Amino acid sequence: MMQRDLVIVGAGPAGMAAAIAACRAGSKVTLIDENHAIGGQIYRQSPAALSGLSVPTDTNAAHGKRLIDELESLKEQIEWLPQTSVWGYFPDRKLAVRMREGWQIITAQQVILATGAYEYVAPFPGWTLPGVMTPGGAQSMLKGMKVLPGNRILIAGSGPFLLVVAALLHAAGGNVVGVVETARRRDALTHLPALLSNPKLLLQGRYYFKQLRKARIPLHWGHVVTRADGAGSLERVTISACDSAGKPCGNFSTVDVDTLCVGYGFIPRTELTQMTRCEMEYQELLGGWIPRLDQRLSTSASGIRVAGDGGGVAGAMVAELEGAVAGLTASHALGDLTDKAYKQQITPLTRRLRKSQTFRMALDRIYQIRPGLLDLACPDTTICRCEEISRKEMEDGIQFGGTNISTLKVITRIGMGPCQGKMCWPTVSRMIAKKEGKSVAEIGNLRVRPPISPINMSDLLNESFIAESSESS
Ligand SMILES: Cc1cc2nc3c(=O)[nH]c(=O)nc-3n(C[C@H](O)[C@H](O)[C@H](O)COP(=O)(O)OP(=O)(O)OC[C@H]3O[C@@H](n4cnc5c(N)ncnc54)[C@H](O)[C@@H]3O)c2cc1C
Repeated sequence: MMQRDLVIVGAGPAGMAAAIAACRAGSKVTLIDENHAIGGQIYRQSPAALSGLSVPTDTNAAHGKRLIDELESLKEQIEWLPQTSVWGYFPDRKLAVRMREGWQIITAQQVILATGAYEYVAPFPGWTLPGVMTPGGAQSMLKGMKVLPGNRILIAGSGPFLLVVAALLHAAGGNVVGVVETARRRDALTHLPALLSNPKLLLQGRYYFKQLRKARIPLHWGHVVTRADGAGSLERVTISACDSAGKPCGNFSTVDVDTLCVGYGFIPRTELTQMTRCEMEYQELLGGWIPRLDQRLSTSASGIRVAGDGGGVAGAMVAELEGAVAGLTASHALGDLTDKAYKQQITPLTRRLRKSQTFRMALDRIYQIRPGLLDLACPDTTICRCEEISRKEMEDGIQFGGTNISTLKVITRIGMGPCQGKMCWPTVSRMIAKKEGKSVAEIGNLRVRPPISPINMSDLLNESFIAESSESS
């Protein structure tokens, strides 16, 4: 078993900022990520040895490089564990990790979970066809593998991330034929006064709109993709105008494409957080179930803090600020930072975090997951991709009494595949809520158990692991 002072899971903007702040405060930091390099999603680095397209830089790249360089300059002082997946949490603060060398249990005095988010896709007919992927998936192909996802690309869903990906793929030589945005232009205009609270981020948004205009990529506000068709792989996408709830309302047209990148925002990645048994709450606008955090980002579980999108989706700048707050607070708890130094450093950060709220809430409102998207799926549309459960099978299960995840799992096998419900539960819980006339919060969350990511059977059969995990559970 490894004993450590501060373990940070996730090396995105939140995890990097936490590691920098805690290391500068004099703490011994262990930083873990399943990726091969630091950066997380937004500042993902391509493997140096890989040949392929050169990846264009965007407005965030310079900032990301500075953050990465700063962390690199501290690498001698930080224990960096790349390609290491944390697949379980056991009380108190025992992390089960799979490294290249095999499994390990790391016990930490303080833990910061900076695990980021998943993309959300509302199911629609044809969403499982080859050629349909998320915008983040297309972005990772370009940033991580230096290839384009296809030849004729349509980007759809909701959120400013669509513009980022459209501009990136275009700059890399991709043929982006359009962007389909569910929010209506007037939704954005309504919230313009709140958006003006952060002129820097607003200008960044404007930059992407200008990039699209310059490239003559049409942006269809108030539209939604209703189906994807093709023999064996994607050939055609149908789009329609939609109402304020995101429900298709006519004016259908088709676009011939071989790639559709579709995503309706992000869902916080909270499996490890849930396993700490800290208090969780449902916040629709922040992406769903999130830990209840105090101002210093502490959860109700002792020594566990959550920073970045995993504590509520709010973008890279907020993630970075939160990471610094969590890092300093962990150092203070370890006794590495005096009360005076802690207060001095934390006050400007918490002030900036408070200021970022107005902008963040406006974006959340403009690009929220709309209830009408649930009606895109037809009775035979697959909802649970792992177990291939259709909407009709799922609704029959609900009818049969499956109004909570445990019962529905038993009746239908929904959520029992490799993703353990990460992909389908946000949709299914909304569907149950709608049918039962309840709120999504009342339907409850998935119960998470280790392993949260695939591990070798030999890890589980290892005698010392069995002894340690049963002792702590
Ligand atoms: C696919 C995707 C692409 C995105 N691209 C952009 C973009 O281009 N521009 C933009 O503004 N926003 C983007 N976002 C949103 C953006 O990533 C966030 O708002 C912000 O970067 C969040 O930072 P973070 O540090 O909280 O999380 P992330 O940057 O997501 O970092 C989380 C890190 O935790 C690691 N991790 C998670 N769980 C484990 C585990 N169990 N074991 C080990 N490691 C783990 C992940 O590998 C990841 O590196 C993207 C989000 C996603 C999901």
